[in-house]
Order: sequence, then structure tokens, then C-alpha cells
Amino acid sequence: MEFVNVIVDISHEKVDRVFQYRIPERLQGSLQAGMQVEIPFGRGNRPTKGYVVGFADKPDYPPEKIKELTGIVEGSVRAEAQLIALAAWMKERYGSTMNQALKTVLLVKQKTRQKQSRKLVRLIPAPQGEVLLREYERKHYRAKARLLAALLQEETLSYEKAVEELKVSASVIRGLAEQRVLRVESETSYRNPFAGHFVKKEQHVILNEEQRAAVEGIWAGYQQGIRKTCLLHGVTGSGKTEVYMELIARVVREGKQAVVLIPEIALTFQTVRRFHERFGDRVSVMHSRLSDGERYDQFLRAKEGDIDVIIGPRSALFVPFARIGMIIMDEEHESSYKSETVPRYHAREAAIFRAGMCEALVVLGSATPSVESYEYARTGVYGFYRLSRRVNDAALPEVSIVDLRKELREGNRSIFSRKLKEAMSERLQKGQQIMLFLNRRGLSGFVSCRSCGQAIKCPHCDVTLSLHNDGRLRCHYCGYEMRMPDACPACGSRYISGFRAGTQQIEREVRKLYPGAEVLRMDHDTTRTRESYEQILTAFGQGEADVLVGTQMIVKGHDFPNVTLVGVLAADLSLYATDYRASERTFQILTQAAGRAGRGEMQGEAVIQTYTPDHYSIRAAAEQDYEGFFRQEMIYRQMLLYPPAASMLGIYLSGPDEGFLIKCSEILGKMIRGRQAEGLTVIGPAAAVLSRKNDIYRRVIYLKHREEAVLLDMEKRLEQELEKDTVWQKIYIQFDHNPLNAY
Ligand code: ADP
Ligand code: ZN
Ligand code: ZN
Repeated sequence: MEFVNVIVDISHEKVDRVFQYRIPERLQGSLQAGMQVEIPFGRGNRPTKGYVVGFADKPDYPPEKIKELTGIVEGSVRAEAQLIALAAWMKERYGSTMNQALKTVLLVKQKTRQKQSRKLVRLIPAPQGEVLLREYERKHYRAKARLLAALLQEETLSYEKAVEELKVSASVIRGLAEQRVLRVESETSYRNPFAGHFVKKEQHVILNEEQRAAVEGIWAGYQQGIRKTCLLHGVTGSGKTEVYMELIARVVREGKQAVVLIPEIALTFQTVRRFHERFGDRVSVMHSRLSDGERYDQFLRAKEGDIDVIIGPRSALFVPFARIGMIIMDEEHESSYKSETVPRYHAREAAIFRAGMCEALVVLGSATPSVESYEYARTGVYGFYRLSRRVNDAALPEVSIVDLRKELREGNRSIFSRKLKEAMSERLQKGQQIMLFLNRRGLSGFVSCRSCGQAIKCPHCDVTLSLHNDGRLRCHYCGYEMRMPDACPACGSRYISGFRAGTQQIEREVRKLYPGAEVLRMDHDTTRTRESYEQILTAFGQGEADVLVGTQMIVKGHDFPNVTLVGVLAADLSLYATDYRASERTFQILTQAAGRAGRGEMQGEAVIQTYTPDHYSIRAAAEQDYEGFFRQEMIYRQMLLYPPAASMLGIYLSGPDEGFLIKCSEILGKMIRGRQAEGLTVIGPAAAVLSRKNDIYRRVIYLKHREEAVLLDMEKRLEQELEKDTVWQKIYIQFDHNPLNAY
């Protein structure tokens, strides 16, 4: 190969094409896809870094215009060819630039200093060394002579000492190493975030019948080489994690590696401990709370085959493992598996693609599977396994629904219904624990005017500001803040106040009602630091509080055997989200919340407070009836052509000039309608749900079609067309396949 195709380093946002370079003689045969290289770039031939993405025998440009590659970047982290291929696939599938895709899959962009000690070891016997030393002296090889003399006195020498005290350069050391006079030995000490925390246990639980059936079923297929994605649908507390661990143990026994994907929020100390107890030091984690150094070391350990199992959120999928045998995706319905930045990939799809490259099996697990996955499992596209009972036949919680409208009519203005209050008093008396779950983001809520009804909004983002303890109003998107005004900015009325149901208010109410009770609160405000999230959960788990108040965060992760009551306040809030998944999300979150009660020996109870007690997602959650929910939801999706009944493509346009953006979106809408493919539905253009963010305007167009291929083809052709006319470069356009959250 004479030529190499290079993508310019990912920090150069603007550069998004492949450049061709000539391979210099000395590097023939030593380049590989994924290697980091240095190239002369641009008019001034600036030394610039890039990645090798391919090779060519013949030049794509006039040969005299092709420059020569400078060299391989030393100390660079070679990205696995698999990951480069994955990036290329993501670029095609989700519509992004190659740079954006590479940036996503290459977890470690820069080498961080490793904790390591190096020493020089003399290889030749002393008499031979003396002879060589005299030769060096005769030839006036001063540095070599100094180094060898030192090594003749002591057989080993620290690398630092050689460089700093003997003033010997790295190239001299390398030269002697090449001549086999000495050897450089390095001892790397990896930063292990869990060193000493856990002990591997030789004994583990004995699987029950259902668990065994799932393991044996999946394993039989695996051994026959069947790589059909499997769905494990198991009610909360049915022992899915034990099934994963048994499967992983078998995969590892066959010399393969495993990836365990978990929503970041569920990646708790408790989870990690269970895996460590099973797999010892051969397991590691990768997540955003690791330090740069820790992350780099886990990356290296993975690359060097020092670990068999990696646990982490969706980005753990990009671990540089060479021999993946299985990818587990726990809580597969979680929307955090979808990236909200370009490329907007879904980890489920990316996992299936990566598994395809290394003959691995993907196993999805959930108590409340996504409607898509359930549909695929039901129709045989996925393998289907169920765990229908809780471990040790522990009963599912008794769930009751309370109609808040009725409470108000009967004169109860408190945020707690009478039913919930009664249940709380009873648990506190018995010394059992309570979780109060507020189905919304965990801040103190917005401020609205009781005269004109307007909520105070961010002047830049078109979202309501939220009131914090310090009396200031803040925007969650752009960070704008202001003092709580004395009067309504719209009408001047003095009757403005905070919305009453934030986690802080609930905490306050509980303290007022039960002055003796210990209360912990968990929301975005109380979990800012790296450890606070874990601390709160641990404290609650150790019984340091009677009540835990919180948002979504408290629904996942830990098992609290002493929790026998879960109160869901304002169950409907998630129903008011403006996208087609609102019911699905509501069902999932309520089911998971209720499932927190009674995980130990004692019977659990859940009380769901709502203004819409007849909504099917709330009823089905109360009955823990996934099938019932699914049937209703599929009717709605079929009727309105939402996934999985059809495929959807979101086209997001944004730009600082609103008028221009509107015009562009209308032209694009016409272009799409002009191509009117049979059976295509076009919605919009319209203002996005968040129509302005940081003074950038946002508009959307949605396409729906029963055949995904039609939409993919439409996207390709649009991209080509948009590239032709420079007018489109003045706005930013993104594509989003089967969007999960409203833009
Ligand atoms: P899930 O992942 O389905 O919520 P877990 O795997 O976390 O369930 O299991 C819930 C609890 O039951 C855990 O504490 C786990 O150790 C325990 N457990 C699971 N399977 C068994 C079993 N076969 N025998 C005894 N305990 C089990
Ligand atoms: Zn007003
Ligand atoms: Zn804002």
C-alpha cells in the first residue's frame, strides 16, 4: 500500500473529510487502521494529528499533490479497528460527521500520565560489559559509557536516575536496548478505583427454576452459535442480575469478555460490589465519575486483556475489548441509552452492531421493557425469556390509587392524601422505612402568578425557571438566574408564588407532620458531588433515616429490604410531557417505583396519588400488568404510526436568526413533500418543544413511514442535496432516528 487515508484529529471540528497521504518507505507495513499519526496539514503544512481510517494502492488525487505522512504519534492510544468501523456505521446510520462519530467511540483522546516506574536492567555479563565499556571510551561515546559504567556497578538502575543524574537521553537508552545491552522494564501500577474494597466470594446464590431456565435457554442458543438478541423480561426483584452473572461466568470461562450496560443512575456501589464478589479483580467500571487517570487506566486494562467484564453506562460499549462474547443491557427501556448529542445513537442498536462484528450475543433485560423490544420479542425477532416471580416468592407490593381530585373536593389540601398519611404513620410506628417519590425533576418548582396564570420563564430558553432555596430563580438549560421578583413581570400582581410540590417542600411537610422522623432528600441539588449520591443511598440503606424523599434517582439501584411503603406523589406529571412516549414512561416509572416496596421479607405497599386515576398507564402500573399496558399502548402506536408500528425520523433545525430559520425549514418541508414517497407522513415544520435555547431558535420536522429503509434513504438523499447548496450551511441540521425525547 502506498497511500493512507487519514481523518484529521477530532479537535478540528470543521475538518470532516478523509485526506490522503503517501506512506514513507520506513513506515511501510507498520501502519494500521485506527493508529494516530502526524501529518503536514493545510497551506502552512502545520504538523497536525489524525487517525488512519484506510489505505489505497492508487491515489485519489494527482500524485504530485499528495504529501507524505510524518510519522506515528508516540504514546498514542491505538483505537481498535472495530471501533473505527462502529464509528463509520454510526455516521451512516445516524447522520453525523466522521469526526463526531470518532469522538463518540474513542473514549480516551489523550494519554494521561501513568503511575509507573521504569528501570534499566543490564543483560550482558560483567566481563563482556567491561570490554564494551572500553570500546565506548575509545570511540568517545560518552553518554553510552556513563550509562554502562553505572550498570556495571549495579545491575539495575532507575530510568529517572539515568536520565536526570547521568544525563543520558532516551535515544541512548533505546540504542543500548536495541543492542541487547540492557532491557527497560516497566512496572505499571494501574489506578484501580475499587482496590481493596471488595473480596471475591467463591459461593454464590443457587438459581431458582425460572432463572435456570433462562440461563440454560440462552446458553444453549449461544453454544449453537445463535446470536439472536434476547429479551429477559423479569419483574422487579426476580433476580435478573444473577442470570446475567451466570451467563457472563460461562462466557468468561470460554475465554471471552463481557460488557454490562447499566443506566448511569443505577450504577451504584451495591451493583459494582455484586459483580466484584463474583468476578474479583477481573471486573472494572467505566463511568463519568471516574477521574481522568482512573478512566485511562481502566481503558488500558481493558485493552491489555487485564479484565474480562466491564460495567458502565452506554459509553462502556466502546470499551477496547478484543474478544467480546456477550453484551448485557440492563434496564433496556431507559431513555438514557439514547445519546442526545450527534450522533444520536441508541446503545441497543449500537450494541447489536458491535456484537455482530465479534460474534457476541446481546441480552436485554427489564421489568418494564420498551414497547419496541417487547414487540420484537413477542413476534420472535428477539429470543424471549421471562422471570415472572420475585425471588423466594416474595409478594409484589399491594398498590392502591388515590384520586387527588376527590381529596380536594373532600377538603384535603395537603400534598399527602389521607390514605398515604395513614400508611406513613403506621410504618413509622413499626420502625419501617418509607420512600416518597416525586415524579418530576427534583427542584422546588416553578413560580406562577395566581392573577394572570403565567409562569416566569427564562428569557433565552422558553422554559420555566425554577425557584431555589436561596430565593433565586434559575434556568436549567442556560443557567440564567434572577432574584425572585416581588410582583408578576407580566401583570404586576403581587400574588405570585412557588409551585408547591417540589422535593424540598415534601421534605418540609414530612418534617412538619412527623417531627421525630429522620428525613433524607435526594435530587439534583443534593447530589452535586461525586460521592453524595452514594452517601445518601448508603445512609438510608443503613437505616439512618426513616424517610427518603426524591425524584427518579431513588427508583433505581439499591435494594432496601426495610422499605415497606412507597408513596408516589403526582403520578401524572410525566403524562404531560409532549412526546409520544409519555404513557410508556409513566407506566415504567410507576412500576419501578412501586417495585421498590417490599424487597425484603416484609410485604410492601405502594400508594399512587394522581389526578387521572383512569389512565391506562397508571392502572396497569398499579396492577403490575405489563401485558395490559402493552396492548393499549400498541393500539395507540398503530393508530398514530409511532414506533414500533412505524419508524420515525426527526429533523432538527437550529440557528440564531428566527426568520431565516423559519424560511429554511419551510423550504426543507417542501423539498421533502416534493419527493413524497408512498406512505410517508410529514409533520411540520414547527417550533421545537424547546423553541429557543441560549438564543438559538429551534424547529422540527418529523417523518413517519412503516419501512425504516424509506426513511434512511430519504435522509441520505436529503444530506446530499443539502451539501450542494451553501445556504444550508448557515443553519445547523441534525437527524434523529426514532427520537425518545422531544427536541
Ligand atoms: P433484579 O435484577 O431482577 O431486580 P436481583 O438479581 O437484583 O433482581 O435480585 C434481587 C435480590 O435477590 C438480590 O439481593 C439477589 O442477590 C437475590 N437473589 C437473586 N436470585 C436469587 C436466588 N436464586 N436465590 C437467592 N437469592 C437470590
Ligand atoms: Zn401575572
Ligand atoms: Zn435559559
